[in-house]
Amino acid sequence: MFKLIEGKKVKYYTIEEFADTDLVTHAFSTRLGGISKGDFAELNLGFHTGDRTENVLKNRQRLCDELEIDYRQLVAGEQVHSDNIEIVTEADRGKGAVEYRDSIPETDALITNQRDVVLTSYYADCVPVIILDPVKEVAALAHGGWKGTVKKIGQKTVLKMKQEFGSEPEDILVGIGPSIGSCCYEVDDYVIKPLSQSVDYWEELVIKTGDNSWKLDLWQANSRQLQDIGVLKENIIVSEICTACNTDKLYSYRAESGTTGRMASLIKLK
Ligand SMILES: [Zn+2]
Repeated sequence: MFKLIEGKKVKYYTIEEFADTDLVTHAFSTRLGGISKGDFAELNLGFHTGDRTENVLKNRQRLCDELEIDYRQLVAGEQVHSDNIEIVTEADRGKGAVEYRDSIPETDALITNQRDVVLTSYYADCVPVIILDPVKEVAALAHGGWKGTVKKIGQKTVLKMKQEFGSEPEDILVGIGPSIGSCCYEVDDYVIKPLSQSVDYWEELVIKTGDNSWKLDLWQANSRQLQDIGVLKENIIVSEICTACNTDKLYSYRAESGTTGRMASLIKLK
C-alpha cells in the first residue's frame, strides 16, 4: 500500500510492502516542499524542463537529505522511451545527478545488486515502476510511458534480473507509482495500433470512447505484462493515484500542457 510521508520539508510516497523488507530506501516524490516557482512549483526534480538548474539541484538535495542520501550520487538514465536496460554498479554513481548530459545514454531502466547505488527516474504522467527481489537482493526501476509499456520494459527488466542475478519472478515485489490513470488518458490509434501488436489482450486494457479514441489503463498494462512472466498479482502494488487528477500535489505533463516539473522515483539497497 502506498503511504504519503510528511517529511521535514518535502512530501513523498513510500510502499509499505517495500519498507517492511527493510532492504531498501525508496520514494516517489510529489511536487510539495521544494523551491521552484510558477509552472514548476514546487519540488521539480527534472532538468531540461525550463526550470532553473540551481533550483532543481536544491530540490534534489532536499529530497535526498530527507532520505539520508547524497544527491550527488544519484544515478539516472537519459530516458528516451526505449527498452534499453542497464546494469549499474558503484562506478556509475553520480551519472545524471547534477547534469542531464552525463546520464546513462539512451536508457530507461536500471538494475543493481550493489549497496549505496541510488537508482532514479524522472517523470510526469509516465509510469514509474520500482522492483525489488528481496531474496537475491537486487533492486531496479523502469520508466514506462506508453512507448515503454508497448515495449514491455517492466517485464524485460524482471527478465534481465533473472538472467543476470538468478531472480525468480515469484519472489519479486513491484511498485507502480503515481502516473496518469485511465480516467485521464485518452489515446487514439497512434497508440492503440502498436499496443494491439504488443499484447493480444489489449482490449482488456482500454475502454472505447469514440471512433478513434480509447481510455488506456497503463497501470493494468504494466501489471499484466509482469504477471505474464510469473510475477504474482499480490506482489504488484499499484498506487492508483492519477497525476492528472491531482495537479495540486503531483506534476502532470498532459494536464499542464507540457510545461511542468518532474517527480522522481528512487530505490537504493541499504
Ligand atoms: Zn485522472
